[in-house]
Amino acid sequence: MKELIRELNQQQREAVLYFDSPLLILAGAGSGKTRVITYKIAYMIEELGFEPERILAVTFTNKAANEMKERLEGLLKREVPVWVMTFHSFCVRLLRAHSVRLGYKPNFVIFDSDDKKRLIKEIIKDLNLDPDLYSPSTIASVISNVKNGTYSLDSMNLYYENIGQIFELYNKRLKESNALDFDDLLICGRDLLAQEDLKRRYSDYFRYVLIDEYQDTNRIQYEIALSLTKEKGNICVVGDEDQCIYTWRGANIENILSFERDFPNAKVIKLEKNYRCSGTILKAANAVIANNRKRKGKTLFTENPDGEPIRLFAAESDVEESQFISSTIKQFLKKGVKPSDIAVFYRTNAQSRILEDALRKEGIAYQIVGGVKFYERKEIKDVIAYLRVALFDSDVVSLLRILNVPKRGLGDAAEKKLKEILKVEKGNLKALEKLAESVSSARQRKAVEDLIEIIRAIREKIPTLPPYDLIKFITTVSGYKEYLQKEYREDWESRYENIEELGNTIQDFAEREKLEGEELYVEFLSTITLSSDQDEMEEGEKVTLMTVHASKGLEFPVVFIAGLEEGIFPHVRSLDSADGVEEERRLFYVAVTRAKKLLSLSYAKRRRFFGTYKSSQKSRFLDEIPSHLIKEVKKKERSGQPALQKTSSTSDKKPKIVFHKKFGKGVVKRVEGSGDNAKVTAFFANYGEKTVIMKFLKVLA
Ligand code: ATP
Ligand code: MG
Repeated sequence: MKELIRELNQQQREAVLYFDSPLLILAGAGSGKTRVITYKIAYMIEELGFEPERILAVTFTNKAANEMKERLEGLLKREVPVWVMTFHSFCVRLLRAHSVRLGYKPNFVIFDSDDKKRLIKEIIKDLNLDPDLYSPSTIASVISNVKNGTYSLDSMNLYYENIGQIFELYNKRLKESNALDFDDLLICGRDLLAQEDLKRRYSDYFRYVLIDEYQDTNRIQYEIALSLTKEKGNICVVGDEDQCIYTWRGANIENILSFERDFPNAKVIKLEKNYRCSGTILKAANAVIANNRKRKGKTLFTENPDGEPIRLFAAESDVEESQFISSTIKQFLKKGVKPSDIAVFYRTNAQSRILEDALRKEGIAYQIVGGVKFYERKEIKDVIAYLRVALFDSDVVSLLRILNVPKRGLGDAAEKKLKEILKVEKGNLKALEKLAESVSSARQRKAVEDLIEIIRAIREKIPTLPPYDLIKFITTVSGYKEYLQKEYREDWESRYENIEELGNTIQDFAEREKLEGEELYVEFLSTITLSSDQDEMEEGEKVTLMTVHASKGLEFPVVFIAGLEEGIFPHVRSLDSADGVEEERRLFYVAVTRAKKLLSLSYAKRRRFFGTYKSSQKSRFLDEIPSHLIKEVKKKERSGQPALQKTSSTSDKKPKIVFHKKFGKGVVKRVEGSGDNAKVTAFFANYGEKTVIMKFLKVLA
C-alpha cells in the first residue's frame, strides 16, 4: 500500500488519508477524483482494516461501477465485496431486505420504461379515455415528474383531467403486481432510511460512504446519502461543479454548493493538477469555463507537455466536415493509432448519421455508445419500409411493418389474415385488396383501402418529387408525423429530425450520383443495406461515436468534436437563457477535457436543414479558446475530397449536352467559371434557355 500511496500527488494523498470529518473533493476534470476514490477504498481495506462489505461507493452508471471495481481489485490484487453501485442498485438491495415494511413482497419486480408504458396503456383503456389525448409516454413522464416532486399532481390536473385517477390506478396496479418503477426505487430507498431503526442500522453498518460524480446527483439521492452519514459525517464526495450536465434530469448543482452547509465541519480539498490532458488542451478548457459565472472557481494546471495545437477545421458544409473527420481518422489509423483510442463527439443524436456515412465510406469500423445506429432507429426503419413497399410490391416484411403503423385498427387478427392471403397471392397490393374484401368491419375495410391509397400515392410521387420532399410526403400522407407527435410527445421532434436527416441523405446521394426517380431509391436502399451488412462483419477494435453527455468520466487520446455551430453547440434550446448557455458551456468543457493528446474541433459554414442548405455561424465557444492554442487546418493539408466539389471527370472539359432533373436534355451555349460551380447556360426543349450550376447537371456529351 505504501507504494500505491506514492502514486498519488500531495493533495490526492491528503484526500486518501483524511478521515477526521466529512470530505468534499472539488476538482476539475482529469485531476484524479475517481482515482482518489478508488485508492481511498483500497487504503481503508489494506491499512485501516475496514471490512470491504461495510464500504459503500456510489457511481453514476453501472459501467462506471464495473470499472471502479476492476481498478480496485487491480490495486488489491484480489476480489473484494465492497458495495460499488449506483443509487438505484443500492435501493434495490435495501428493498430486497425490507420491502415488506412498505407493503411489497421481497421478490418484487422492477418495471422498466416499456413495462411502464404497457401498464399505462391498459389503464387508459380501462378508464375509457381517449388514447390520443393520453399518450402512454407522456403520461409516463408526467407520473415520473410527480413522483420526483418536480410537479404536483394538482398542477398536472390542469392539463390532464383524469391524471389523479390514472396516477392512483397506476400505483395501485403496480402494487398489485408487486412491482416498482425506477422512481419508486429511489423513493422507497429514501423512505426506508427515513425509518428511525433502519436509519440507525445502516448508518451504523456503513463505516464509510463515497460518491463519485456528486455534482449530478438529484435531491432524493442526496437525501439517501445524507441519512446514512449525517450523524457521523463518514462521507467523501467528489465532484466538479463545472461538469454538472444533468440539471434537466433533476440533478442539482446546489447539492454540491450546500454540502458545506449540511456538514459545517466539512473539509474541502481541491485537486488542481490535471494528469489527463496535454498543456494546450487544458489551457483551452480553462479559458472556456472561465466564462461561466455560476461556479466556485478553481484553477487547473498540468505538467504534461503542451503537445500539439488544437486543430480547427472550418468546413464549407456538413458533408465536408464529416469527410474531414473520417479522412483524418484514416490517416491516424495508418500511422498506427488504435481505433479504440479515437472518439468522435457530437451534441445531438441526429448528427451521427452524416458521420456514420463518412466513416463507412472510408471503411472505418465504429461503434455508437449509448445510442442506436442511424439506420436501425425505429422511425428511420418505418419510413424506409413505406418507401420499400412503394418501390417493391413483393416486400412483404416491410408491408407487415407498416400495416398498423401508424395505428389504423389493423391489429393481430388482420395481420394473421394478411399473412394467409400472402401465401397464395403474390404482390402486396393485390393481397391488400383481398384483405379489404375479407375483413369483418367496414372500419377495417376502409383502413385497408386507405393504406392501398397511401402506397399508390407514394408510388406516384417517386418520379416527380425531390427526395427530401418525397420523404416528407411519406410522413404526411401516411399520418406518420401525427403518430410520432402522439406517441412520443417528449422526443417526437428529435425523431422527426432524424427523418429529415434521411431526406437530406437521399438528396445528397442523388446529387452525388446524379440519379433520380425509382433508380435513385433502389440504388440508395441497396447501398445502405450493403453497408450495414458489412458493419456486422467487422470485428475487433472500433472508433467510438457518442454524444457529449455519454462521454462523462471517460478519456481518449484523440477526440474530435463536430458541429461547433451556434444553435447546435450551444444548442438552440439553451440560447434564450444565461443558465442554459452556461450548462452548454459545462458540456463543452466536459467534451474538451476527455482528450488526452489531440483535440480536433470543427464546424460547417453550411449545414443541411429541412432539405436545403442554411448558413451557420461558428460556435461562440470557439472564440473563447485563445487563438494561439489553435491551428487551423487548411484544405490542401488534408486528404479527401472537399465537399460539393464533385470529381466528375467531365467537369473540367467543356460540356456539349447536359441533363437536368427537371428540364431534361439541353444543348450547352455558354459556360462561365470552372468546376462544379460553373454556370452553364443551355437550351432545353421544353423550357427554353436556362442557366444552371454545373453540379446539378449530368454531362451527356
Ligand atoms: P473526470 O472529472 O473526467 O471524471 P477525474 O478527476 O475523475 O476526471 P481520473 O479519471 O481519476 O480523473 O484521472 C484522470 C487520469 O489521470 C487517469 O488516467 C488517471 O489514471 C490519471 N491520474 C490521476 N492521478 C494520477 C497520478 N497521481 N499519477 C499518475 N496518473 C494519475
Ligand atoms: Mg471521474
